[in-house]
Amino acid sequence: MAKRLIFLGPPGAGKGTQAQVLAENHQIPHVSTGDILRSAVAQQTRLGKQAKDYMDKGELVPDALILDLIQDRLSYEDTANGWILDGFPRNINQASFLEELLVKLNQSADCVLNLSVPDEVLVARLLARKRKDDNEETIRRRLEIYHQDTVPVINFYQQKKTLKTIDGNQTMEAVTKSLSEAIS
Ligand code: ADP
Repeated sequence: MAKRLIFLGPPGAGKGTQAQVLAENHQIPHVSTGDILRSAVAQQTRLGKQAKDYMDKGELVPDALILDLIQDRLSYEDTANGWILDGFPRNINQASFLEELLVKLNQSADCVLNLSVPDEVLVARLLARKRKDDNEETIRRRLEIYHQDTVPVINFYQQKKTLKTIDGNQTMEAVTKSLSEAIS
């Protein structure tokens, strides 16, 4: 059975790590907009050059850059049996775009997983991670944007009743177990 999963959660919730595990277990691609953007920045592509300053500041990259990227990625052949979206949709406009895109692709998400972790735990985790955009100021900004732009996306999926909230403040193994139960 195809598995189409959307991962939501604040920066530092562990989406990337968990999405990677599920992607391997189910042999489906892990589509991380953050990873795609970081690789574009590293390769200094047009997209990378346009995205870099926003990412360094902890702002969202403009939708104009992200929407095309997702549309392209979800039309690759490897997505026929499913996908895990990590880092997208991050605001209501992206969520509505995805709805329409999935209709066009004749697909629908099976499950929206929301990894929940308290803010103070997130800040500590992100400060320990030391990625380039993980300094205290940027982290605060990313959390602010998360509450302002991404929490409405959680409410959007909650209304559609496809949302499952998982406690992300447990050991990695325990989170993986909760996620696997939620999607089985
Ligand atoms: P985190 O979840 O830790 O914030 P990500 O790797 O998901 O990290 O994203 C890193 C950065 O990439 C974000 O701060 C943002 O600038 C950009 N980004 C990723 N996904 C999106 C998106 N869907 N829309 C806009 N910007 C995005």
